[in-house]
Amino acid sequence: MYRHEIDEEKRTLKLWVRRKKSNKALICSVCGGRCSQIEEVRDREVRDLPWRKYQTTVVVEYYRVRCPKCGVKVEAVGQLPSKAPFSKDFEDAVGLACEAAAARQVARQFQLPASTVRAIDQRYLERWAKNRKKPALRQIGVDEIYLGKTQKFLTVVSNLETGEPLWFGQDRQQETLDRFFQEELNALQRGRITAACVDMWEPFTASILQWSPQCRIVYDKFHVMQHANQAVDEVRRAEFFRKGGPMRGLVKGKRWLLLTRWVNLDDPKRQLLNELFKLNRKLMKAYLLKESLDQLWTYTYEGAARRYLHQWIDQLRWQRLEPFQKLAALLLRHLEGLLNYCHVPVRFGVVEAINGNIKALLRRGRGYKNLRYLLLKAQRLAALKTEFLLLRRAA
Ligand SMILES: [Zn+2]
Repeated sequence: MYRHEIDEEKRTLKLWVRRKKSNKALICSVCGGRCSQIEEVRDREVRDLPWRKYQTTVVVEYYRVRCPKCGVKVEAVGQLPSKAPFSKDFEDAVGLACEAAAARQVARQFQLPASTVRAIDQRYLERWAKNRKKPALRQIGVDEIYLGKTQKFLTVVSNLETGEPLWFGQDRQQETLDRFFQEELNALQRGRITAACVDMWEPFTASILQWSPQCRIVYDKFHVMQHANQAVDEVRRAEFFRKGGPMRGLVKGKRWLLLTRWVNLDDPKRQLLNELFKLNRKLMKAYLLKESLDQLWTYTYEGAARRYLHQWIDQLRWQRLEPFQKLAALLLRHLEGLLNYCHVPVRFGVVEAINGNIKALLRRGRGYKNLRYLLLKAQRLAALKTEFLLLRRAA
């Protein structure tokens, strides 16, 4: 430091710094190569970490150098990570704060506009993403998130083994997912994908099989069971609601009971369901069908799973349960992807957990119109959770 200024009233501190003369090589900020010739000496003023209650600014001396490859360029300075007027330490502090709080709160803490905090946070995350090792991609999850009327759907591709989101695409067409395979993976990487966990949305399946034909499609149990729950709910409405009068009152507010797994209900709630079933056998049958479908994923042999599914469908005969007939037809159309689970038992629930995290981020902070920022944020969240689990396991 060769100069300083302190303003006690405004509580500001300004420091002028320059490096000591040394033989340290000069690095070109464009190509990262070594340079030896200094063309020009310049200053840059950046905000640094505060000292006590003093907002601190540092004036850093840096060089413009002659790079053998690029010509006259700015040298790479570790403490000057971008063109923005902040030091790397300062940006790291803001980024770290953003891991625990919403951008608006961090903005208040550092007395910066929220948009500046988000920009700093994104650069912090970009540096983190650039410097870490990317895990191999063998199993992918593909799902969509509904963002609302204007933005519609977001396609989310994730790594099933690490539980982190990899890519976001606007919309949910076959072409949307095609872009992921085209732009993010080379032929070798596409050939290494062994399994994909998806819902029964044909455009995704079509895209995956076009780009990674060796990949096995596995339908997400969570989504299949959602269809089964819908079928139960349709039976409930047909049997009780549409009849009106006292029957309607009986089933009101019991929807969640019917959609909960029997094992997760306590005795009084099971009693409530049993009373409902006494009044209507069709609803009981529907509930039992939904409950027993879950067993399909306990089989490890394809033949046994296939037999179980056919037996399950056979039970529907003479029942006149229209919604379940439709469900059975849907399952038969997607038979291969249901049975594939026997060959590649992917982790279910990962895709759902990732979606939950993204939705939580979207709820917590506005300003995620920038999808790249949202993706980095969700990736960091997933990585932090993994680190936390490893830490706990070690302890
Ligand atoms: Zn260069």
